[in-house]
Amino acid sequence: MIPKDHPRYESLVTREKLVEGVRRGITALEGLIAHGRGEAFDYILGERTREFALKAEKVAVAMMLLAKNPVISVNGNTAVLVPKEIGELAEIVNARVEVNVFHYSRERVNRIADHLLKFGVSALCAGDAELEGLSSARRIVDRRGIFIADVVLVPLEDGDRCEILKRHGKKVIAIDLNPLSRTARMADVTIVDNVIRAIPKMVEFARELRDLSRDELESIVSNYDNRTTLAEAIEGIKEYLESAKRII
Ligand code: ATP
Ligand code: MG
Repeated sequence: MIPKDHPRYESLVTREKLVEGVRRGITALEGLIAHGRGEAFDYILGERTREFALKAEKVAVAMMLLAKNPVISVNGNTAVLVPKEIGELAEIVNARVEVNVFHYSRERVNRIADHLLKFGVSALCAGDAELEGLSSARRIVDRRGIFIADVVLVPLEDGDRCEILKRHGKKVIAIDLNPLSRTARMADVTIVDNVIRAIPKMVEFARELRDLSRDELESIVSNYDNRTTLAEAIEGIKEYLESAKRII
């Protein structure tokens, strides 16, 4: 048991969920390494949702509400960190949820789908179609999901697949704490925030925006420039480091 008053309680609980995910064959070992990289960036962003992330989260939700076939792609990390919230977001924006992993095995995919089902989320995972041009297992998709999606939300994406999704004409929304990653630079909208804060925030935005007209939603999406967001995120890191320098 992690004591509630531990100064790094939140971070330790998150790690514990991922370790448990590995024990249950849901999260890949490599997912722990990916999380470590994310945590390091979170640390130098001040471990809170910044303005540039809020802006991207709102635009992302508006894009999903406008989409014809929005899909939320779930891997072994996202499945254990925010299963309930993924279901809530999917329901409000009317998106399909699809299991899609980098380290593939049929068993792991089924375990992720079973885990999501416990939270009331029925996820696609047929693996009956392939994204051409991609050699990793991320190419294996569902004919009813990512294959036909126009907008894909991909928390913790890999740069290569992000590129291929774009080449297949899809709009990509990434959640990635590293504003320098290939994913962050390839995506149409990059949410530089921790997935454990970003998804609940998106659920809030979805509740707020769900009844807006298409025109109103379009005005939120138009003029959005992802390069500005990434530059603001880098600025945000610089600012945080400057302020940290003063307290040392
Ligand atoms: P890329 O392939 O895009 O160049 P990479 O190879 O550096 O990135 P990957 O291992 O492919 O990284 O993906 C992991 C990414 O997910 C990292 O960039 C990391 O910052 C991010 N990440 C990990 N955990 C979280 C989290 N909880 N919330 C948000 N982002 C996270
Ligand atoms: Mg990568």
